[in-house]
Amino acid sequence: MTPPPSSSSEVAVVGAGPVGLTLALWLHELGRDAMVFDARPRARLTDDARVLALSLGTWRQFERLQIAERLPATPIRTIHVSQRGFGRVRLEAHTLGVPLFGAVVRASDLITALLEAAQTRGIAVLDETPVESAEAQSERIALRTPKGAFHARLCARAEGRLPAEAEGVVSHDYGQSALIGWVHAEGLAPESAVERFTPQGPAALLPDHGQWTFVHVLPHGEAGQAAALPDAAYLERLERAFGNRWRLGGIHGRAAYPLVLRWRRRPVAERTVWLGNAAQTLHPVAGQGFNLAARDVGTLVELLREADDPGSAWTLERYARRRAPDRRLTIGLTDGFARGFLPREGLIPLARGAALFALDACLPLKARFAQQMMFGWR
Ligand SMILES: Cc1cc2nc3c(=O)[nH]c(=O)nc-3n(C[C@H](O)[C@H](O)[C@H](O)COP(=O)(O)OP(=O)(O)OC[C@H]3O[C@@H](n4cnc5c(N)ncnc54)[C@H](O)[C@@H]3O)c2cc1C
Repeated sequence: MTPPPSSSSEVAVVGAGPVGLTLALWLHELGRDAMVFDARPRARLTDDARVLALSLGTWRQFERLQIAERLPATPIRTIHVSQRGFGRVRLEAHTLGVPLFGAVVRASDLITALLEAAQTRGIAVLDETPVESAEAQSERIALRTPKGAFHARLCARAEGRLPAEAEGVVSHDYGQSALIGWVHAEGLAPESAVERFTPQGPAALLPDHGQWTFVHVLPHGEAGQAAALPDAAYLERLERAFGNRWRLGGIHGRAAYPLVLRWRRRPVAERTVWLGNAAQTLHPVAGQGFNLAARDVGTLVELLREADDPGSAWTLERYARRRAPDRRLTIGLTDGFARGFLPREGLIPLARGAALFALDACLPLKARFAQQMMFGWR
């Protein structure tokens, strides 16, 4: 990628991950001038083994951006939620009045589609250009990179990392890792997703082109041991985690991710907004990390549609206020799922079972729950 002639733009986007690129495409739709910086070389931008369950709200954003049509994706129409013992819920998209709950995509495919769209639209993406510092200077913000200085009116930081020691960051280490990979699941209907709560942590199966990607959360030590198990032994363990309901086979692509919760109390500062994992890094239990980020991007874009100065304190303050309820609720729900399903003794498992039972029996409750997961708080 050749550097553009200009050393300034209205918005500087730090990070060409799925969040930074989605924002850049929306800014282009608005006719706003944006430039994207990434530390990695172009060939490595798509190195991401994660598989993302996109909610219906996020999927619709990609339809509007004409990205959905070029994305290899598998729809989710049924979701099974259960815990060991008593309590299970089955959610069917058609009974809740929607064609699908969302779609499963590989992060690498999503980034490829976003990069291609950025290229077609002439959006400058500077690879191998890490932003080393950013300094707000009343009317603009100055970015330092090894390729020289750069100026913008707003710096959107979607750099993925959120250090625990950064000011105003709330941090919790779950002491868990997520093992991910792909399996075949005999007996499970295509387009079905599964979420199962076990005493060690949650486990999920997401449909992906005739196979399923699994997310298996375990305490760090156990995750290390499980990652080293031969395929057959690990598959047995995975089947047990799902209550031996489905026969699993053909495992491949095992990888591990350590899990933390981190979030910035204020996702804005002078001429700066943090988005995606750089604003909040969530436990993957409810598949909300990227979906929440897409809603954050949606609100920012709505506000920028009207704003003369995209980095004004007024615009950023409105953004922070507008996003606060959905951020708080989604972070709280995700954290509640991650921690609340762990105790295996006493009354808590019974209360959980009763809550799942009530959810299964009550259609309006189900609809409200599904609404939150698909579109966030509104
Ligand atoms: C196991 C697992 C499963 C998940 N499943 C789901 C799911 O089902 N649904 C969902 O919604 N979310 C899910 N998530 C969360 C989702 O993966 C993240 O929210 C999302 O990928 C974050 O994207 P991002 O663009 O913010 O960050 P990243 O993808 O980390 O991108 C950041 C980019 O910034 C670049 N960068 C870093 N520093 C600099 C710098 N100084 N200068 C320039 N560039 C820089 C990096 O090179 C990188 O390209 C899951 C997460 C995990 C771990």
